[in-house]
Amino acid sequence: MSLQGPVTRIFANARVATCRDAGAGASAAALAVELRELRSVAAVGGRIAAVGAPAGIERRFPGAERIDTAGRLLTPGLIDCHTHIVHGGHRADEFERRRAGERYVDIARAGGGILATVRATRALDADRLARAALPRVDALIAEGVTTLEVKSGYGLTLASEQTMLRAARRIGALRPLSVKTSFLGAHALPPEAGGDAEAYIERLCTEWLPAVAAERLADAVDAFCEGIAFSPEQVARVFACARELGLPVKLHADQLSNLHGAALAARFGALSADHLEYTDAAGVAALARAGSVAVLLPGAYHFLNEKQPPPVAALRRSGVPLAVATDCNPGSSPLTSLLTALQLASHYFGLDVAECLHGVTRVAARALGLESDRGTIEPGKRCDLALWEISDPAELVHSLGARPLHLRVVGGEVQTMRYFPGP
Ligand SMILES: [Zn+2]
Repeated sequence: MSLQGPVTRIFANARVATCRDAGAGASAAALAVELRELRSVAAVGGRIAAVGAPAGIERRFPGAERIDTAGRLLTPGLIDCHTHIVHGGHRADEFERRRAGERYVDIARAGGGILATVRATRALDADRLARAALPRVDALIAEGVTTLEVKSGYGLTLASEQTMLRAARRIGALRPLSVKTSFLGAHALPPEAGGDAEAYIERLCTEWLPAVAAERLADAVDAFCEGIAFSPEQVARVFACARELGLPVKLHADQLSNLHGAALAARFGALSADHLEYTDAAGVAALARAGSVAVLLPGAYHFLNEKQPPPVAALRRSGVPLAVATDCNPGSSPLTSLLTALQLASHYFGLDVAECLHGVTRVAARALGLESDRGTIEPGKRCDLALWEISDPAELVHSLGARPLHLRVVGGEVQTMRYFPGP
């Protein structure tokens, strides 16, 4: 074999959970069948070239660098498809206030909540924002995350939203993982808007979105549709502008009340509708028709002590793909563990192990518009992998606090076992 040309590696003798789409309801059975026999994965030039019986793979790729996985579980690299991981400050004080009985919406209305983080975020430049996020990012990396979505939404001026998005892009340069950004200018009304949400949305549509798009700072546009945030009509205007600029949309929908956010997201062909605690049957049907992903965020459900879970059974019945994410943010979901999110999704929402695993791989990729590029272990896909010190994927879901990662593979390159360098 020539030493020139793309690097070829074989990850040999693994229990390979490909996370391929096995059709509705077939995932658990397909996963069980896949894990019965050891297989090998060949990667050429950062892409998966073949998956198959070890002897056959060895014959097809002679001279490849060989990593014997010794029967460990091999999954696609994990994808956290909904985070607000870039921010200044923290909101530990609000934890005590909520413990004393104050409601999240009341704290938000009194200038706390998102606006408290806005003040802390505006005080930092892009470099300091990126570095402030690194300990949180590293915690996700240590759990096998190879792709991370990061939202803006704590700047709420054009300049500070751009700073947040640049900070997010910088994380992708400081750490071996892919970052996808979402512009979330319609997250909360900033104090200087003087309560005029209409004028704020107008400026966001006519000035901010075109500027962010021109600089290619956002891969998608997100919004928060809620009584304490923006109305469905205002969100619709933002989405119409986003689509005109060629940007896909996502939505924080029906988290605290039913404003028919899921149906609104579906109307704009959203990549995903996220939260969905109060989504009704019409919303579920609309998501199914649009092919949008339902992103479940059990961290926020847990921390806000919510009592109404999203309509998971109806989503499942209608064939809406389910993803799970951390929603990592300093207020309603200070969660830097995607595996913990899986435990919570199983505990509160009844997801099974296969749904959990697909929800942070293939379906999470789809929620970011990346399903043709990554999220499964199939020929042609980007070679982002997580190799685990376990053989049964249930071990990724059933516990709290375990970090059984052996190593990550990012674009075909083997990363060190754990990644905790200083900033
Ligand atoms: Zn969120």
